[in-house]
Amino acid sequence: MTDSDDALLPLDAVRPPASSKDTKGAPAPAPERPVARVAVDSPLPHLDRPFDYLVPDSMHETAGPGVRVRVRFAGKLVDGFLLERVDESDHDGRLMPLERVVSPERVLTPEIAGLARAVADRYAGTLTDVLRLAVPPRHAKAESEEPAKQDLPPAEPSQTESAWNAYPTGPSFLGALRDGRAPRAVWSALPGARGWAGATAEAVRATLDGGRGAVVVVPDGKDVALADGEFARVLGPGRHVALTADLGPAERYRRWLKVLRGQVRAVVGTRAAMFAPVADLGLVAIWDDGDDLHAERLAPYPHAREVLGLRAHRTGAAMLIGGYARTAEATQLVASGWARPIVAARTMIRGLGPRVRPAGEDAELAKDQAARQARLPSLAWRALRHGLDSGPVLVQVPRRGYLPALACRHCRTPARCALPPTRPPTRPPTRRTALPPDPHAGTAFPIPEAPAEAGHLCHGPLALRGGHAAPYCRWCGRVDADWRCSSCGSPRLRAVVTGARRTAEELGRAFPSVPVRTSGRDGVLATVPATRALVVATPGAEPVAEGGYAAAVLLDGWALLGRADLRAGEEAVRRWMNAAALLRPAAELVVLGDAALPAVQALLRWDPVTHAERELGDRAELGFPPAVRMATLTGVASAVRQMLDEVRLPPDAEVLGPVPVDEAGQERAMIRVRRSGGAALAAALKGASGVRAARKTPDVVKVSVDPLDLI
Ligand SMILES: [Zn+2]
Ligand SMILES: [Zn+2]
Repeated sequence: MTDSDDALLPLDAVRPPASSKDTKGAPAPAPERPVARVAVDSPLPHLDRPFDYLVPDSMHETAGPGVRVRVRFAGKLVDGFLLERVDESDHDGRLMPLERVVSPERVLTPEIAGLARAVADRYAGTLTDVLRLAVPPRHAKAESEEPAKQDLPPAEPSQTESAWNAYPTGPSFLGALRDGRAPRAVWSALPGARGWAGATAEAVRATLDGGRGAVVVVPDGKDVALADGEFARVLGPGRHVALTADLGPAERYRRWLKVLRGQVRAVVGTRAAMFAPVADLGLVAIWDDGDDLHAERLAPYPHAREVLGLRAHRTGAAMLIGGYARTAEATQLVASGWARPIVAARTMIRGLGPRVRPAGEDAELAKDQAARQARLPSLAWRALRHGLDSGPVLVQVPRRGYLPALACRHCRTPARCALPPTRPPTRPPTRRTALPPDPHAGTAFPIPEAPAEAGHLCHGPLALRGGHAAPYCRWCGRVDADWRCSSCGSPRLRAVVTGARRTAEELGRAFPSVPVRTSGRDGVLATVPATRALVVATPGAEPVAEGGYAAAVLLDGWALLGRADLRAGEEAVRRWMNAAALLRPAAELVVLGDAALPAVQALLRWDPVTHAERELGDRAELGFPPAVRMATLTGVASAVRQMLDEVRLPPDAEVLGPVPVDEAGQERAMIRVRRSGGAALAAALKGASGVRAARKTPDVVKVSVDPLDLI
């Protein structure tokens, strides 16, 4: 630590762990590299750096880099990871000895240690917080078990035709993986329920055949189960592990150790698997990167796509971002040239996709009395009835509790704040920030800047508060009495129709004598048999039907599109396509939505790419992520305001708010910078958090960089 760093903090906050009183009877030091640099388990941002300890001679053999240790820190015994052994300490004065080596297992590999540091810097978090996500808690029994001997026969050559042959650039992608190169691709998967898992398994197989390992992250347990089966089929038994949260600590740790010890080199799992310590990483892959399950719920809230991107960048591994739909983030990676698209030929898509028909708001209701009760348009009713002749049919219904957005009454353009930011960009700061930016942070994705005029206005979503005629902005909190629609100039607003909620019983009555199965919040079905049934599911909970659904109706068009969420359009397309992909080829699909809407068009034409490119363009124009970096500060009002006063933001930073976010006096402020300012913004926020922690300020301000829920 340098003098200039110290000058920013009260001195007692950075007292080194050694003190001259403690040296009586100090143990003899290890004969070589007697200094251990330890990442101490402390949540305090101003102490987020390694501390030096003496390695006693007795621990010389066991205290290797990456082991778990116990050390005395600020008077207490705490856990830590030994990062490295060095000859000398920068700290003058005697060092405290390591208290003990918990286990000689080197659980923190150099790659993961470096990645964790980069993730912490990217998200304004601490190394300790990221390590808690990256390295599972120790399970001593699992660690002491002798690894089962396994002599795997060489994997058999695959018998079936490659799923990648359906994509013009697919075979060359596989070839590059096999040759040990690092292709990076954004893959628009063809419809078909199991296709993605099989194709992903093939990519992993090619990587293994090339002598490298692979990490695959999928949204939920249902997807892990699907991939697990396909991996076993394509890779052969014993060549991969599945990691999910619900395995239980012993089994999860056992599988994780297999990866650490190099017994398996392929991993598929939910988001925590993004840190799986696969050696010689050749491929990182993420399926359905738009699913919000990919965002970590614990500080510093990293997103799996971003973490895997950093991993690919740091290790030179390939990356595969797959989905039926496309996120704006993935589209930006293509636009910048960082990744290449893998898209099937149109003829292929036409052959495999469903036949989609839209039913607009004014669609004629079915004549059948029960179907009319369930407010089913006749188009939807006929499609379901016809489908039931040959198998299961799917009805996607909205979940409860979407926050409706305000939109132009005339043209439905979402209503956005047209006021300038609360605090416009400032002059360059005269004092340096507390932490120098990591030179690697932000370089993972060399992405072009948004146009210069982006972000001059707030563009936050507008809302109405009870009783007030004029809308206020959810981001900057101001009332915009003179609002006019940016598209058509109309001054009139409306809350977007959220769609009617149809219950499974109502729908079931329209199809008497057909069994009804439900999948949703109260229980998710992974699969349903190929027999005729009405399957009613909320978005994301649709079971896979054996052989595919015979027909489907997507009932939640307005609810999904009308949500007060920046990503509402993208998310509607994603949820529709994920459901539509479960249909048999050319099966009939009815979506309740206006054919003129871009999201409905994307589904009709099975063209997620054009929609995502348009979405990205809109976001660049409005100054929304991923065209910019955004951070939120949330906490009690006085704390958020104090932190805003103290933080030394990068010169181009705009501040929006703070605004109240709940009844309990919590407020939220948003800070927006150009992408190139992301690392500086994270460093500034980390520095400000550190100053608060050093001062022992009681009210914590939650810092979140690039949060998903920008409502
Ligand atoms: Zn309008
Ligand atoms: Zn605003």
